[in-house]
Amino acid sequence: MCVSPIRGIVGSMIEENVKKVLSDLPDGVILVAAAKTRTPDEIRRAVSAGVRIIGENYVQEAAEAFAALGHIADWHFIGHLQRNKVKKAVRIFDMIETVDSLELGGRIDRECAKLDKVMPVLVEINSGREPQKAGVLPEEAEGLVRGLGRLNNLKVEGLMTMGPRFGDPELARPYFRETRRLFEKLKRLGVENGEMRYLSMGMSNTYKIAIEEGANMVRIGSAIFGEREGG
Ligand SMILES: *Cc1c(COP(=O)(O)O)cnc(C)c1O
Repeated sequence: MCVSPIRGIVGSMIEENVKKVLSDLPDGVILVAAAKTRTPDEIRRAVSAGVRIIGENYVQEAAEAFAALGHIADWHFIGHLQRNKVKKAVRIFDMIETVDSLELGGRIDRECAKLDKVMPVLVEINSGREPQKAGVLPEEAEGLVRGLGRLNNLKVEGLMTMGPRFGDPELARPYFRETRRLFEKLKRLGVENGEMRYLSMGMSNTYKIAIEEGANMVRIGSAIFGEREGG
């Protein structure tokens, strides 16, 4: 048995990392701690150090963490939402950051109507125009935002993008810049039943660049919890 000393060290590292990241963020930039593959204990430590929003990629994993921790922070869904998980997801999450079709929005709307709930959502933009990636193309965003605006149990509150992954984070900048431009354009046009408030972009290696390009919500995993096993 060689458990406790190691976990103790890891735990205090999470707390230090959260404080470091929070102190790096300018006023008005919101931290989402991306918690995929992390244990409820690790998530609890991050929250105790100041995290207010937990990001989850998998509904089942989130359900287990939520059962253990409850509403100790807001829960944001940041992964690819499978149609058959929508019903469960709307019970757990306070925001769904990855809506990329009217069909998915419609399902979220119908499940929320049953609970008498209005779900804040972000529209995910495939800013890198990568065929294998989720998100709508930038030129399709306006149409989707308008369509989602007609749904009463969902409100559009902004945009989210991943952008392509590069070794050099500087290469992500043009994709963040394009998404920011789109965000500002949609803000000027106005959103029915909603408001363009949040621009969620930037991860551990790119958040500083994303903030320079206008992000006011960043999703940070490994810089808080350490590298994930298996990458
Ligand atoms: C994992 C993940 C992050 C965080 O990535 P890190 O490189 O660990 O900071 C952010 N956004 C999404 C959608 C993710 O899946």
